[in-house]
Amino acid sequence: MVAEKLPKISIIGAGNVGSSCAFLAALNSLADVFLFDKFQDLAQAKALDIGQAAAAFNSKSKVVAASSMDELKNSNVVIITAGIARKPGMSRAELVKTNGKIAQEISADIKKFATDSIVLAVSNPLDLITWIVLKETGFDRKRVFGMAGIVDNSRLRYFAAQKANTDVNDIQSHVLGLHADKMVIAEEQMVVGNEPAKKALSAEQIDQIKDSTRGAGAQIVSLLKNGSAFYLPGSGAYLMAKAIIEDTGQAFDTSVFLEGEYGFSDVCLGVSARIGRDGIKEIIELSITKESYVELRENERQFKEQIKLLS
Ligand code: NAD
Repeated sequence: MVAEKLPKISIIGAGNVGSSCAFLAALNSLADVFLFDKFQDLAQAKALDIGQAAAAFNSKSKVVAASSMDELKNSNVVIITAGIARKPGMSRAELVKTNGKIAQEISADIKKFATDSIVLAVSNPLDLITWIVLKETGFDRKRVFGMAGIVDNSRLRYFAAQKANTDVNDIQSHVLGLHADKMVIAEEQMVVGNEPAKKALSAEQIDQIKDSTRGAGAQIVSLLKNGSAFYLPGSGAYLMAKAIIEDTGQAFDTSVFLEGEYGFSDVCLGVSARIGRDGIKEIIELSITKESYVELRENERQFKEQIKLLS
């Protein structure tokens, strides 16, 4: 009997986020999953455990620990979750140097072996890592983008649903710009049920939702004490990989290299984009208020400051 050939997802960094994504991909038979980690035993342990969990779900996915980077070849999607996670009190910007260097090293292998893959960055600082991978691989911007919008929007929808006493399906939102404390929560794009958020909620409630969303990652970091959130980020990576593999054209807020959108160039910032088999299908420029635009411009400035930390 010949096993059905599934698409291939390679996940570089088999830590908390990478393995959560692998778990979902395997349980749902989305793809065969190859796990890479600088600690090979860790990748091996996760591959065995997830592969055996997949058997419990009668999954068709194979889960494999890769022994060398040349096993990246023929990946439909490469997901970068390698790096160090934020520790209590550590800003995302402080991760720049360490994770930036890791991303540079990984990009060289992606360029060499994953010549046709779509590359999804997840490691922080997310927008900068996306930019590094894009520059180091030289791939078209359609093929390299970053996952954080699902994380920030899910948090926002979680808090907004609580405030509005409804469920998350009633909440629509967009979080643009940097995946950082100063992320742009475009209030004008927030909808509760069929109403603009401004009508459904008080200004104070909206401010509280924004504050909770901005602080959600740090709240988990301070409670965990040794690591950061991973179920939601792993889910975000899985959902975007699914949209790529199934060529859905679904729109996500995702970090993209901008070439004139919103008037910005040579930066990676979160914008709304449709995703499919070949990567970015379309960037959707949303109608935002002057206030949101000013915040976005400030994010652009901060991004350019971060780049300087690399040298
Ligand atoms: P983790 O420490 O559990 O896992 C990271 C893994 O990367 C480790 O297993 C480590 O051995 C591996 N690694 C380090 N350098 C490597 C290299 N050069 N090659 C291969 N593997 C290497 O961390 P985590 O909680 O899984 O977080 C992973 C990354 O995701 C972090 O940078 C974190 O900040 C980021 N993150 C992003 C979001 C988002 O929304 N984009 C959300 C949460 C976390």
